Amino acid sequence: MKRIPLSLLAVALFCLAAAPIDDPCTCAAARKANGWCDRCEIGYVASIEVRSSILFEALDAHGHEIDPESASLQSCPGCVVALKNDGYCPQTRCGFVGKLAYFSRLTYLLAKGERTDLSRITCTVCTANAADTTLPVHGRGWCDECKVGLIGNVAFRDPKMFKAAAKEYERLLKAIKTSERCGTCGAAQFYGRRCPICRISYTTGEPVKMKPVRSAPP
Ligand SMILES: [Zn+2]
Ligand SMILES: [Zn+2]
Ligand SMILES: [Zn+2]
Ligand SMILES: [Zn+2]
Repeated sequence: MKRIPLSLLAVALFCLAAAPIDDPCTCAAARKANGWCDRCEIGYVASIEVRSSILFEALDAHGHEIDPESASLQSCPGCVVALKNDGYCPQTRCGFVGKLAYFSRLTYLLAKGERTDLSRITCTVCTANAADTTLPVHGRGWCDECKVGLIGNVAFRDPKMFKAAAKEYERLLKAIKTSERCGTCGAAQFYGRRCPICRISYTTGEPVKMKPVRSAPP
């Protein structure tokens, strides 16, 4: 066996170490498809930036293929009906769109909306609505002219569905803010769970106020 010259080995090692930096930026595609860009370390949900990989993974925004005959699905009557009519089962917090499963009301509703190419919008109201992603939280973001509501790059033509999505979206924005401090807290806040690292519980998007623990009398 021939010996590899050291210089070549050094070059090879350098290339390996440098590989992640050479990852192309996939933000443009990720923004459109609820994806993650390895190079910039940013994920996107409805084109909104999520910088915490922990929160992004937890949001699990893409649809999941499911076996309609599986025991876990068949065990919940609500899910069986929801799978048939592209509905949502509040029991298991599972929604179905086009036979794919989504594990939060937000990701389910976003899947029900239409993904829109924002660069193609010509209406000035809609352009402004798309640019300010905080609008839906304030009950705005609806264009009367186009009869469409925008949450990031997802368009809703049904005002009721837009309102419902805006409510869930507000929870997402709060979770994103929290995830700047702790990604696990961000995910816990979104799902109404507990962060085992910070030992903070969240319910309906807010931290649970704990009674101060009194020290035991001596
Ligand atoms: Zn990128
Ligand atoms: Zn169910
Ligand atoms: Zn418009
Ligand atoms: Zn935490």
